[in-house]
Amino acid sequence: MHKTCTCGQTMTMKLRTVIYSGKVEIDNVPIYSCPSCSRSEVLPEVKPDLTGLIGQLGEEPAKQTLLFNELNEWADLLLEASASRKTPSGPAVQQIVDERIDSLLELLLLAGSVGDEAWRQDIEKRLAQLSRCTLHT
Ligand SMILES: [Zn+2]
Repeated sequence: MHKTCTCGQTMTMKLRTVIYSGKVEIDNVPIYSCPSCSRSEVLPEVKPDLTGLIGQLGEEPAKQTLLFNELNEWADLLLEASASRKTPSGPAVQQIVDERIDSLLELLLLAGSVGDEAWRQDIEKRLAQLSRCTLHT
């Protein structure tokens, strides 16, 4: 889970709190940051969901705290990985991703068999979020 910064230093990934509009706290957002020049950027895999979330909040959001890991599978997995191991490393995260995909596929079958369309769509969305992620290790 490392990325090279434009300054040549290795950026590290951390779950951080993003403050939007000075009012909304979004916790557990995976962000790459550079220890050398303090540059930071949101993990590309979660960017569409973060920008989508901010879009939904609009320009005059109410004061609130959101947990990004409840909205994004990738953030949830990284949170799980960092809880069990201090620094999530590539293979460990990959293993958790694989396990999560397996259990989501099982749920998808179950949702299909009981005919719960809303549930099935929710699981499909989660799977799409995971399949978007590619690990650079
Ligand atoms: Zn840098």
